[in-house]
Amino acid sequence: MSDILEYALHGHIAVLTLNQAPVNSLGVAMRTAIDEAFSQALADERVAAIVISSKQALFCGGADISEFGSPKAFASPSLPDLCNKIEASTKPVVAAINGMALGGGCELALACDYRVAHSKARLGLPEVHLGLIPGAGGTQRLPRLANPQLALEMIVSGKPKPVTALRGCGLIDFIPEQEQAFDDTVQAYTEQLVSDGAVLKSCAEIRVEPNSFSAGMFDDFRASIARKTRGFFAPEQCIKAVEAACSLTLEAGLAKEAELFKACMDTPQARAQQHLFFAERSATKIPGIKASVEPRSIKSVAVIGSGTMGGGIAMNFINSGIPTTLLDLSAEALERGINVIRRNYEISAQKGRMSTDDVECCMALLTPSTSYDDLGQADLVIEAVFENMDVKKKVFSALDANCKPGCILATNTSTLNVNEIAAATGRPEDVIGLHFFSPANVMRLLEIVRAEKTADEVVVSALKMAKSIGKVPAVVGVCFGFVGNRMLEPYGREASRLLLEGASPTQIDKAITEFGMAMGPLAMSDLAGIDVGYLVRESRREEIAHEPSYQIVQDKLYELGRYGQKTGRGNYIYDGRKQIEDPEVIDLARDTAAALGIAQREISAQEIIERTIYMLINEGAYILEEGISYRASDCDLIWVNGYGFPAWRGGPMHFADEIGLQNILAAIEKHRSQLGEYGEKWFTPAPLLKQLAAEGKTFGEYINPKYA
Ligand code: NAD
Repeated sequence: MSDILEYALHGHIAVLTLNQAPVNSLGVAMRTAIDEAFSQALADERVAAIVISSKQALFCGGADISEFGSPKAFASPSLPDLCNKIEASTKPVVAAINGMALGGGCELALACDYRVAHSKARLGLPEVHLGLIPGAGGTQRLPRLANPQLALEMIVSGKPKPVTALRGCGLIDFIPEQEQAFDDTVQAYTEQLVSDGAVLKSCAEIRVEPNSFSAGMFDDFRASIARKTRGFFAPEQCIKAVEAACSLTLEAGLAKEAELFKACMDTPQARAQQHLFFAERSATKIPGIKASVEPRSIKSVAVIGSGTMGGGIAMNFINSGIPTTLLDLSAEALERGINVIRRNYEISAQKGRMSTDDVECCMALLTPSTSYDDLGQADLVIEAVFENMDVKKKVFSALDANCKPGCILATNTSTLNVNEIAAATGRPEDVIGLHFFSPANVMRLLEIVRAEKTADEVVVSALKMAKSIGKVPAVVGVCFGFVGNRMLEPYGREASRLLLEGASPTQIDKAITEFGMAMGPLAMSDLAGIDVGYLVRESRREEIAHEPSYQIVQDKLYELGRYGQKTGRGNYIYDGRKQIEDPEVIDLARDTAAALGIAQREISAQEIIERTIYMLINEGAYILEEGISYRASDCDLIWVNGYGFPAWRGGPMHFADEIGLQNILAAIEKHRSQLGEYGEKWFTPAPLLKQLAAEGKTFGEYINPKYA
């Protein structure tokens, strides 16, 4: 009856099979097809029961997000209406959940009378990640069918749950044994229902039992997620919707859900989070690389250097079941590195995240080595040795001599020139930057540095590998600090300069965390190590020597041996995990400012934001104009996934677009004129920012002519 939905009558059972690649998304065409097929089944006297199934690998991926913001999203039949129609059906309806059922797809299944699920299927309501709440009855039906605690967990976390974890909660009626053919089992199950005179099961008849949850459950839940959801609007809306399900009739609850959904839709937060959703998808489209380029197979990995980064990088591959060789100079260094990895796994086991057997399975995938002779089988080698060009060149020349042809040779350098590292080998086309973030086994970002001669195939392989180990990749070009650290530089510079001008570390960090950053820049510097920042500055002193105030307080802290958290003192004093303001730092800043002739004054939170955040946006504009990044949304992904920029603001470039580039430009120009000589040196608006502001355009619209 339609090319996206197959309608068939199997005996007394009408089977509606969704069949639209890749995920049966519920755009207006699919909604119409289901609606029409459903009406046909209801009208057909031969039909005793209806099955909704899928021919794709997923049951249904949910709403068609490309319709968001267009009239199509709510065009009739709307998804809430369709779900209500299914629920009101006079014939029993069975959802045959063969695979993932997400968002609207899950809500469609919840509206059915019965749910049969494949044991490998998963159910999830991820709308919260798009700044929304489930809007097709999910918040009202899930607490009724299962229980409010589970509904809160699933709806507020947005994380899909395997059906095996949903056994016995009332949500799934039947999970067949794996070896049975799923469609046949569903058919048999439905026939049995019909012959047993199956009852219709409407959620309108189910009330959440008041004694199925404790009086303080909602407040306890709010407290438990407060830190994680700070600044986000949608999670609280989700909680309110589940609360409504516990006290209202289904009809009133659905009306409340619609009201809460509407309050989320068309907000800057929803736009920001949806922007990031699309950003992740576009990040893998690389200008100039044809879709036909095939990735190389990566079945075995080696990591050089078993320090902070090397160990974390190795864990990513082990966690994905890929055998990994870890190489260091000495047996002692190697043993230290291996012990850290083992300890990390053991801590996970103590926390119940894995079994002790899993720990041993992971460790069995790891081969320690001190010899380059052991690298012959590796398909990918990632170097994570000291940040020193001579050391890196020696390592790459050894890799060139020992690795098989076609092996991808990657560096985890944070700042060094990848073209120069590649030139130390006779195969620069196989060399690429894979910039992981610390802790490398936790942080989702992977900056993939495409050097001048990197082969397209190697870039495509890196993108595929990133996905396979659960990273969010962004491909960038070669420059000092690549994208993330280059944008970090003006941000850190201004934080340090603001100290000299009279703001305290607490005041600076508070303004920035209230803006939404996970951490303030001075606390972050203490965490990363003041010594680390100092050594990076040392490597490029010549470029910054013209500015005597440049990060001078941080340099002085370094000279005092105050490296941050690791020494218990830095920009703050640390008492265990407690961070305390240090009057000595304030005195140091005041005395240094006096010596440099910098007047101290009251500084507003707004000025702190404009000077730190707007200047990192300005650097982003230079990066776009130079073509170091292909698109503004890649810079957003990098800052959200690697630097704690609030996802609900969509990343720095999207945030700038939201508040208007004219406003960003005006603030930069204001500081340029107000900060005298310092302002003239550092507050130069990027030409691209000026151009887009003058044209009334956004970073999101900009395409570098090189990549058009
Ligand atoms: P680290 O000092 O903790 O570890 C370096 C390891 O490399 C040591 O175990 C050392 O013994 C080993 N090593 C040194 N020379 C070697 C050689 N020739 N062959 C084999 N092993 C050798 O350093 P790290 O913090 O893990 O940094 C490693 C790299 O990762 C650097 O390039 C750094 O810039 C980059 N990086 C670090 C971070 C971070 O936050 N630490 C973040 C991103 C990138």
